[in-house]
Amino acid sequence: MAVTYTSTRNRQETATASQAILKGLADNGGLFVPDSIPALDVDFGTLAQMSYQEVAYEVMSRMLTDFTEEELKHCINSAYDKKFDTEKIAPLVKKAGAWYLELFHGSTIAFKDMALSILPYLLVTSARKNHVENEIVILTATSGDTGKAALAGFADVPGTRIIVFYPKNGVSPIQEKQMVTQKGANTSVVGIIGNFDDAQTGVKNMFNDKQLAKELNEKGFQFSSANSINIGRLVPQMVYYVYAYARLVAEGEVKAGDPINVVVPTGNFGNILAAYYAKEMGLPIRKFICASNENKVLYDFFSTGVYDRNRPFILTSSPSMDILISSNLERLIYRIAGDDAERNAALMKSLTAEGRYEIDDNMRQKLSEFYGGYADEAETAAAIKRVYESDAYVMDTHTAVASSVYDKYVKETGDGTPTVIASTASPYKFTRSVMEALRGDCGDASDFELVDALNSLSGVPVPQAVEEIRTAPVLHDTVCDKADMEKIVRGILL
Ligand SMILES: *Cc1c(COP(=O)(O)O)cnc(C)c1O
Repeated sequence: MAVTYTSTRNRQETATASQAILKGLADNGGLFVPDSIPALDVDFGTLAQMSYQEVAYEVMSRMLTDFTEEELKHCINSAYDKKFDTEKIAPLVKKAGAWYLELFHGSTIAFKDMALSILPYLLVTSARKNHVENEIVILTATSGDTGKAALAGFADVPGTRIIVFYPKNGVSPIQEKQMVTQKGANTSVVGIIGNFDDAQTGVKNMFNDKQLAKELNEKGFQFSSANSINIGRLVPQMVYYVYAYARLVAEGEVKAGDPINVVVPTGNFGNILAAYYAKEMGLPIRKFICASNENKVLYDFFSTGVYDRNRPFILTSSPSMDILISSNLERLIYRIAGDDAERNAALMKSLTAEGRYEIDDNMRQKLSEFYGGYADEAETAAAIKRVYESDAYVMDTHTAVASSVYDKYVKETGDGTPTVIASTASPYKFTRSVMEALRGDCGDASDFELVDALNSLSGVPVPQAVEEIRTAPVLHDTVCDKADMEKIVRGILL
């Protein structure tokens, strides 16, 4: 059965999976959603025998129905290979009364690798299927993490180029080092004199520049985006929930068909939405526990039915969750509105105009599977310390937010359902915050000194991603004024 993708803001706009991946965003700001989610008609006993790549094929082939078996297997096998430091790709470990699903074994040691290592292959395949002959140029503005994960994903993928802009004085030293040492003949990294918003605006302007698009097309290029609302990022994220459940069945921890809960440290709402889609496919998930940091706009939404971004933006130790507009929530709103694009579009219009919207009781009732919680900075640090002391297991700050919220949930409800916590980054990615949680103030210790301290304290080997940037040569040293971004892109491509 073919799955068609429709816009959350206009039922008339439809696309095949490959067209939706190529296009990224639907017209008028809508997001592509599957009009139906096919059942995963493979029993869990069979899935329990499969490798990550095999499970990925079962899940993704049901969602990306215009890809052939050969195309999809090529994408999966090119993505989930030696770039990951474990054959399991996403290992599940039992610690402190829950199952931690480690999604950080890819090349940039954070969960975005799960999707960004396959998106380049999905994009190139989609281009070929739709007779696009141009090379795909990924243009990205980054505040740190996404840029590196996208660079690592697209580096040396035939048929693609990637250009990343970052605020020269607005990312951490380790983040900058990770980007400017990026290998790959098709990669460019440019620091701009300006902030993240300037970089973002410059990129958006280039996307909307018809003249530039025309000139690029003449030279055989076209822009595309690796943005987190692309369904080419969402669908690969459904896989690891199914895989985790299959592992639990394989190890006799749950009986096939028994429910589990999932806890997801949430920012843009992509990861948790993938779990929701996995449930629609047949995965028995009882509760979706949505964990926020002090930017608790989602917690407030689940508690009151009001989404309100009019509040101060708080910088926390879990920066990848410092978000006030969770873009992927729109896909859930559309669902609970009964796939009503007009109703959804009206709510999103209100979000743009007033920064808030309110859902009605009927829609709220459909959110009963969700539980919203949040952890403040002290609770996050306490969770890192607690799990280290009880189980000698060191979590990163984002995972710690989830762990803390899960603790509160169990105390409040007494729910003993087996629970999977999405572990979204290696502690080595946020070493300073993690070491401060474990040891208190770290004074003037350099980031690499803290890496060594964390290594001796946890016994966990320093990941290759961190090791290699200690000595890696700088390969990108272009810095430009924010006004000159287009000039730089022309210089690179034309
Ligand atoms: C991006 C990110 C998140 C948030 O995921 P969403 O899909 O945006 O909700 C959580 N933790 C880490 C480490 C991330 O990089």
